[in-house]
Amino acid sequence: MQHSSFNQSLLSFLQSSPTPFHATDSMRQGLLENGFIELFEQDDWSIDVGGKYFVTRNESSLIAFTVPHQDVNRTGWRMIGAHTDSPCLKLKPNAHVKRHGYHQLGVEVYGGALLHTWLDRDLSLAGRVTFKTNKGDIVSRLIDFKEPIAVVPNLAIHLNRQANEGFKVNPQEELLPILCGVDQELDFHILLAQQIEHQYPKSDVASILDFELSLYDTQPPALVGLHKEFICSARLDNLLSCFVGMKALLDSQEVCPSLLVCTDHEEVGSMSACGANGPFLEDVLRRLSPDPEHFVQSIQRSMMISADNAHALHPNYASKHDGNHAPSINHGAVIKVNTNQRYATNSETASIYRDIAAEEGVEVQSFVVRSDMACGSTIGPITSGEIGVPTLDIGLPTFGMHSIRELAGSHDAYGLYKVLARFTGRKELMAK
Ligand SMILES: [Zn+2]
Repeated sequence: MQHSSFNQSLLSFLQSSPTPFHATDSMRQGLLENGFIELFEQDDWSIDVGGKYFVTRNESSLIAFTVPHQDVNRTGWRMIGAHTDSPCLKLKPNAHVKRHGYHQLGVEVYGGALLHTWLDRDLSLAGRVTFKTNKGDIVSRLIDFKEPIAVVPNLAIHLNRQANEGFKVNPQEELLPILCGVDQELDFHILLAQQIEHQYPKSDVASILDFELSLYDTQPPALVGLHKEFICSARLDNLLSCFVGMKALLDSQEVCPSLLVCTDHEEVGSMSACGANGPFLEDVLRRLSPDPEHFVQSIQRSMMISADNAHALHPNYASKHDGNHAPSINHGAVIKVNTNQRYATNSETASIYRDIAAEEGVEVQSFVVRSDMACGSTIGPITSGEIGVPTLDIGLPTFGMHSIRELAGSHDAYGLYKVLARFTGRKELMAK
């Protein structure tokens, strides 16, 4: 796949994936179009050699895998991991609020969002709605209003003279998006029912039972910079890695069984039925290696590359980095190391990655947090701690992580894709 068409499909993937549900559905579509077969956890599985499969859980996490041969206990898996969720504003259950002449929505903050970046944006609403039909069935559908239907306006500086000396947002009082004035009637459940009928005609909605909806910025992802060297978009953390991982699996060299796992709830700790700290991956792997002895053999011959974004050195805030570990944008994926195991990288998994990247002619960088600062974490150590697979934490250098609009390099994603595609074809990991 060519670099420019790769980036164009990345931009449309980001645009069509405003929530983890939609991201999972976008990957589902991409996999189906490329001959992958959907499995369901509730059913019996029959796996054919040469087959390509995927399975979702909670419609917000996905595992896809290829089975080029039967001997997974002899070769192990080449695994790629990422997460489908991003920090955002989620609606409260009784979301509709009327205040001072406006219809607004009550929100909870999901994950570590940079709150001030949500102000003055043209916001829309998307997610999953569960409803009862007139026949009595309970059904879920994904909805996306697409249009900018809400906004959280800033307060004028004249009314907050200290705004530029440190800006604080109270999420209970000051983050409620405005939908419209109260001179317009609004029944929020009717609005949702109309949106379902608009997207899925003849849905036969009798009543809305519940929903998981979040706001998102409608500004489309874009290539920016004098030479279009940057990608600016919401949810680069971590849909960038989901997309790169999916493309790598689609173009897998099918030498070893390869697997992509993209899980929800990373931004809130991964502890859920479909999160990396839950049993989803292990459940799938055990079904594929039912013999307990073979299961352990296959895991110990495997490697997981957990891809999540890394902090690039920001030229306006250079003191936030260790001078020897200051990744820059468009100079390759960053190997993330933390001696306190906030990242799962070890010298062997890092070396294997360096070797594959060198074969592909792609640059590699290193990140370690300043010794006087706290380190972030990701699904790498969680997955490694759950199933015991040797793991590497990497990520593409990014500015403004957890902003409503993040920035990454337009060359880095394609470079990582080439390395990961080659990784899926790597037969020998370490010499015995
Ligand atoms: Zn992340």
